[in-house]
Amino acid sequence: MLGARLVFRCFKTFERLGDRITGAAGPFFVAFAVILTGLGSACFFTILLPTLSYPLLTTPLCILIALNMHGHYFLVTRVRPGFVGPPPPPPVGISPTQQPQSRGRIEDSAFLWALPPHANTSGGEARVTRAATTRCKRCAVIRPERAHHCRICNRCVLKYDHHCPVGVLPPRFRGLMPRLSVRLPHCPFFPAHSPPGINQCVGLHNERHFVLFMAYLVVGCVAFCYTSWEIGLGVLGFGVEWTNWDYTIPSTIFLLIYILAAVMSLAVGIMLAFHLRTIANGETTVEGQDNEVYRKVAEQRAEAFVNSYDLGSGLRNIALFFNVAIGKHSPSPAPYPLYSLLLPMRVHPYTDGWSWARREGYEQGHAGIKRGEELTDEEEEFPDSEP
Ligand SMILES: [Zn+2]
Ligand SMILES: [Zn+2]
Repeated sequence: MLGARLVFRCFKTFERLGDRITGAAGPFFVAFAVILTGLGSACFFTILLPTLSYPLLTTPLCILIALNMHGHYFLVTRVRPGFVGPPPPPPVGISPTQQPQSRGRIEDSAFLWALPPHANTSGGEARVTRAATTRCKRCAVIRPERAHHCRICNRCVLKYDHHCPVGVLPPRFRGLMPRLSVRLPHCPFFPAHSPPGINQCVGLHNERHFVLFMAYLVVGCVAFCYTSWEIGLGVLGFGVEWTNWDYTIPSTIFLLIYILAAVMSLAVGIMLAFHLRTIANGETTVEGQDNEVYRKVAEQRAEAFVNSYDLGSGLRNIALFFNVAIGKHSPSPAPYPLYSLLLPMRVHPYTDGWSWARREGYEQGHAGIKRGEELTDEEEEFPDSEP
């Protein structure tokens, strides 16, 4: 028992060390990402775009892709994931199990498409029911279902997906932000009540931007590789000789971006496919892992596990995630138009994180797993390991 506890403590020490390294590396990842995507765009627009045919068609299209790639990266680092605050009071005259979505409680700024709809239960195909709550044993807040405690941010995050080592500014620059906010009180870039962090979780309010950033990054990288393969091979010494390199950007930088774009289109493409699959299943990354365990538990009891957040069709789940109307699917009373996916703008989720859309017939929760059997953040803690 003593040996097991020692091993567990060693493991936890390494895990916390890993968290610290991830936290400290955040600003470097950001700087790296900003420099590389900026260089990629510079290479594309100065070297490759002039070589494309149909400039009237291709130029606006390429500008749109670049705007979305940079815009969603800005938004995923800038929009807070949705930290758990006090629960919103149920609206008067509406039973707690039928509470509609209410306004998101984070700043309504940064290229916001429109304010979220006010409480309205009519329309929309998703049945939104009030979430069950638990108390976090680490930060003691009352939190709704799907919220998890992030060890790096040390806070509970609504619809926690994962912690990504991205952020906006290193800590020594944090002091700048309030001053900028005072000077520019309505500037959407610097909302006063949104202090930047070193790292950022991906949660309810920025998950859409995270997925769209990956999607536009993949599109951008594929477009880069497709339009530059001839020049790239030439620089590498194959095919056409590129001895007269008369561009401002050195050929070595172009080559670096060319190789990086090829690697990224594959690596981020796989990540994107994984995320789209979890979204189509009505899960987050954490829930995908948990649901595997629940499936096995249910199987042992000869029952079938049903994820209540899965509305029954991949397209409906995707429509709900992006809060857009896809064909006849209208996830919420006032979904955003489908073409909102083409613009780098803030779009609110369908819920405030304290109510969730569930599959018809599963309004009380998942099937095959009982309340209390569900995995918690504390599950990983060794029993009696804390004084
Ligand atoms: Zn917590
Ligand atoms: Zn975090």
